[in-house]
Amino acid sequence: MDLTRTDIYLDGAWVAASSGQTLAVRNPATEEIVATVPAGTAADVDRAVAAARAAFPGWADTAPAERAAALDRLHAALTARAHTVANTVATELGTPLKIAVRVQAGLPLTVLRSYVDLAAEPPAEESVGNSLVVREPVGVVGAITPWNYPLHQVVAKLAPALAAGCTVVLKPSELTPLTAYLLVDAIHEAGFPPGVVNLVPGTGPEVGEAIAAHPDVDMVSFTGSTATGRRISHLAADRIARVALELGGKSANVILDDADLATAVKVGVGNAFLNSGQTCTAWTRMLVHRDRYDEALALAAKVAEGYRLGDPFDPATRLGPVVSAAQRDRIAGHVARGLADGGRLVAGGPDAPLPERGYFVAPTVIADVDPDSALAQEEVFGPVLAVIPVDDEDAAVAVANNSRYGLAGAVWSGDQERALRVARRLRTGAVDINGAPFNPLAPFGGYKQSGLGRELGRYGLDEYLQTKAIQR
Ligand code: NAD
Repeated sequence: MDLTRTDIYLDGAWVAASSGQTLAVRNPATEEIVATVPAGTAADVDRAVAAARAAFPGWADTAPAERAAALDRLHAALTARAHTVANTVATELGTPLKIAVRVQAGLPLTVLRSYVDLAAEPPAEESVGNSLVVREPVGVVGAITPWNYPLHQVVAKLAPALAAGCTVVLKPSELTPLTAYLLVDAIHEAGFPPGVVNLVPGTGPEVGEAIAAHPDVDMVSFTGSTATGRRISHLAADRIARVALELGGKSANVILDDADLATAVKVGVGNAFLNSGQTCTAWTRMLVHRDRYDEALALAAKVAEGYRLGDPFDPATRLGPVVSAAQRDRIAGHVARGLADGGRLVAGGPDAPLPERGYFVAPTVIADVDPDSALAQEEVFGPVLAVIPVDDEDAAVAVANNSRYGLAGAVWSGDQERALRVARRLRTGAVDINGAPFNPLAPFGGYKQSGLGRELGRYGLDEYLQTKAIQR
């Protein structure tokens, strides 16, 4: 199946990119090239931003009910492509198909649905003294997204931006650009006015920097690594453009002494290894009370060893490859360093058997990890779990908060009040108690170096609005 795309999307039409250069997309399970896409340039970004700028006044003035209706048509058009989305993510990223159907295709549809509803209500206006306070769309948004949840990360920006009345220039990750194409096909079919959404694929240094530095981009919404987020902030600061940043994480899974250990460990390992560990919120540090530490390690090793690695299209596969050879090699470096720093291997590791082809990493559990060591501090972005013993609740909180990141976390306890008390003490944007379900309306974002701003629900919409006071 050739998934090649030859054009970029500007002002409501598929057109040739300016350079004629292409970027190859690889299937990480087979290492084969499955498609090429145009390598956009700064000149393409100029054209896309001009189209978005021209479309902005009309889209900003469109009635909320009409914008909601357009998002509803988009939801239908994307639902019709859900199967293709799941297959495409399994091919370009290697997510096992079963999980791709549920998470990679299902989650964006859930998020999009929530914004159909939120778009229909105009942003609340209020009177404060002699002022009328109104909310208005920010303007032209540059959206730059990563490869790990390629459609979800795009929808989490595009849906609220469009609901708010903003127009968008989108640059998906060069490693996984194909799902963004499917989304733009659906946008085209849904009949959005020309220029409201524009797609320029390309590399970060070429297209990403051109978007972040563009004088006519009012806001840059970025999801990706903290290093790139820092660079984007610098570029946007020159013209005081708004930035929203969803960055890295090193989340702690705090398992207290009164937890249901079997469930906490099983769900915890599953969370850490979801999408081959390429999840920004992954609970990559498991903090276990010392009294139950050995039991937890035995359980974690058993769960990890039960994971079946292999072809993403085989229904028995639980863990696919990681996205690239570079990522695989980086992960191997983290594991080697973790072991050299005194970590004890309890599952997986450098000598575990792997499929012959593909960028696979064995599900790995490392015990006795020093909370200050690199493995406990650096984001690995692979199926590698660091387990750390703690003496009591205070120590657990201190170790959990000993991080420059603050994206997510978990607390497990038989006592809901106690769990809530600990959850309040964690310096992170989200905490899940006892495996509570995901809530697509809850604010999502980071403390500390995990980011700025929030996505999802009403909180995500607010990022794309600014506030005006009219005195009367
Ligand atoms: P990355 O920072 O390398 O790339 C992200 C995007 O930025 C890509 O589109 C890339 O082309 C672009 N980019 C790269 N350099 C750029 C530059 N100089 N200027 C402008 N754009 C540039 O990140 P990645 O490797 O694709 O994704 C993995 C990272 O994303 C991890 O750190 C992960 O934690 C983070 N992430 C965070 C969240 C969240 O919501 N907090 C979600 C998913 C992933």
